[in-house]
Amino acid sequence: MQTPISSHNNESTGLVLSACGSESTEAPAAAPPADSMTDTVTDAMTDTMTDAVEDVTEQVGAGMAEATGAVEGIVGEANDAMDVVSEPAEGQPAAGEGDPCSLSIEAGDTIAFSTDAMSVPSSCADVTVTLTHTGTMPKQSMGHNWVLLPETAIQEIGIAAARAGLNNNCVPDDPRIVASTEVVGGGESTSVTFSLDALDDGTTYGFACTFPGHWAVMKGTFTVSG
Ligand code: ZN
Repeated sequence: MQTPISSHNNESTGLVLSACGSESTEAPAAAPPADSMTDTVTDAMTDTMTDAVEDVTEQVGAGMAEATGAVEGIVGEANDAMDVVSEPAEGQPAAGEGDPCSLSIEAGDTIAFSTDAMSVPSSCADVTVTLTHTGTMPKQSMGHNWVLLPETAIQEIGIAAARAGLNNNCVPDDPRIVASTEVVGGGESTSVTFSLDALDDGTTYGFACTFPGHWAVMKGTFTVSG
């Protein structure tokens, strides 16, 4: 009696197994639609994401174009401002002579310099100042020189310079004088090179022509920037 039962059990187990088997064989059959759905979803997502990325890229691109435009505008304004600032110093943005450590200044047959403000960057190892006499009068009557000195000492040294005489280029022996050129007359040019190390940090410097009587008018500020 037990054997048929067990065989019945076996049969039912076999049926169950076959049922499971048939289900399991259907599963792969259902897989292709799942794959195609996945493909469809993937395609859709890819398309959507690609579009979105393209949109974002376009927006970022437009944003960057605007930002670039804004930066160019600012740079342009800065350059314009620098042009204006540099004009009195003469020469910086002009083609060719772009050395900010080399300054030029002029004086003619009148008691006047071409500028009353000179400036150099602190990064200059050496500074060269060139003075050109654009007039025609001889140095005995309308000589000019360029002297770098503390601004507060211009009057005192200017007065002392009158006694120094033309043979000394109208430069008195004074340790406060940082640099000085010789006296030049009409059509002549001269220059002097000095190190910024010679300038004290806490002192305000200026320049002057120490030809007798000129210092009161022919003077200006000399600043080291940066
Ligand atoms: Zn002078």
